[in-house]
Amino acid sequence: MTTETASEIRSSGIQLQPDIPICQQDLPLDWYQEEFKPYAEEYLALPDRRPETVLPWMDEYIHPALDHFGPSLMLLAHYYMGGEIVKLVERYGGSVADSYGLALQAARHPEAKVIVESAVHFMAESIAVLAAPDQHVWITNPKAGCTMEMMAKADMVEPVFEDLHERYGDDLMVIAYMNTSGRLKAMAGATGGAVCTSSNARKVVGWAREQGRKVFFVPDRHLGEVVAGWVGIPPDAIFSWGGGYDGAQQSIAALSDADRDRLDRATMVLWGSYCGVHTVFQPEHVRHWQAEGYRVLVHPECPKVVVDVADGAGSTSYLWNEVMKAPAGSRLAIATEGHFVNNARTQGALHGVEVVNVADVPDPKGRSFGCGCATMSRNDPPHLVAMIDLLRKDAPPDLNRVLAGDIVDEATARRERLSAEQRARIAADARRALDRMIELTEN
Ligand code: SF4
Repeated sequence: MTTETASEIRSSGIQLQPDIPICQQDLPLDWYQEEFKPYAEEYLALPDRRPETVLPWMDEYIHPALDHFGPSLMLLAHYYMGGEIVKLVERYGGSVADSYGLALQAARHPEAKVIVESAVHFMAESIAVLAAPDQHVWITNPKAGCTMEMMAKADMVEPVFEDLHERYGDDLMVIAYMNTSGRLKAMAGATGGAVCTSSNARKVVGWAREQGRKVFFVPDRHLGEVVAGWVGIPPDAIFSWGGGYDGAQQSIAALSDADRDRLDRATMVLWGSYCGVHTVFQPEHVRHWQAEGYRVLVHPECPKVVVDVADGAGSTSYLWNEVMKAPAGSRLAIATEGHFVNNARTQGALHGVEVVNVADVPDPKGRSFGCGCATMSRNDPPHLVAMIDLLRKDAPPDLNRVLAGDIVDEATARRERLSAEQRARIAADARRALDRMIELTEN
């Protein structure tokens, strides 16, 4: 079993292929905010989605902005972006990375003053938390949320934390997975805890364990179980709390005496939200591909029973690098987000590596169980073009600006923004938790 930490952004190596449609699926016009609709109308009127058609349209808007901003403009995307948008971002000089790599970019590039992110909101907010005051972070679609994070909103988790804190006091430390809002990262920072990502969770949770304190791991339920196993926390020392509104409604007082006793003895309390994209995988899928001669690599947001039987587990960067450095003739089966696997399949084929999706096991009905991250794919070429062009015109919608502590409703885009004073407090505590993670990861 191998894991990898990725802090530097290298080129993904992804190449645009002629005749492959640029975007996986068009969004309906009414999914775009008012300011973006004129761009979406132009895009939707294009005759097809081939690079030969879409790129000239994008170039017309993006090249003037690149000339206007120069190195002060930084474009970022996550590997899970649907269709070919990751390739577009790199084509315009931007970078593609996993959530850890993205979070570091503002601090690593002080020359970047305008940072435009095509991914989900918590990723943009993490960049904003670590940004300097003169660096502004923008998200191409503020409605791009993460379902795991949606089941761990601050108003769900905070009452539970208060309940636990009242019972365990300063013995309690919060480890917040990167897939959380800044407010939960701040909760981790305030308890002397840390943030972790799938690339460094083993180090961070191992460090937390050495502190001898009870860990409240928020979320992911599966990653928490996997990492607990990696650092030697036995299953009977884990207390599984609910996730989403179920978790919010639980309380220590309502537990049975036996459960309260288990909670008292637990080394780790796990908030129960999870990623639907990563929980479709099953051990039988892994064994199928192993029997066919494939090396099976999985993301640790998959259930622990899947990780336990795989040949390797690690972050998005780890999985990508394994594909890119595999020698010709290799056969890899990957269990993670569907757009990522599609891109890995295309790029692997260019150097003789066969990549399959672990969920694509033979099915009498011809189904594939794998899926893409639909919420992240709410960013598409018109969102990118509109954001960049409106920034150049000095007319960016404030809704797309990302500040620490912002909460955005993924259905309506309604935003709750803290006062400057509250924001400063959240940013300071969240930065403390992120800095702890960086220190543990880089040293
Ligand atoms: S793939 Fe899952 S965990 Fe990752 S951003 Fe999408 S919903 Fe969240």
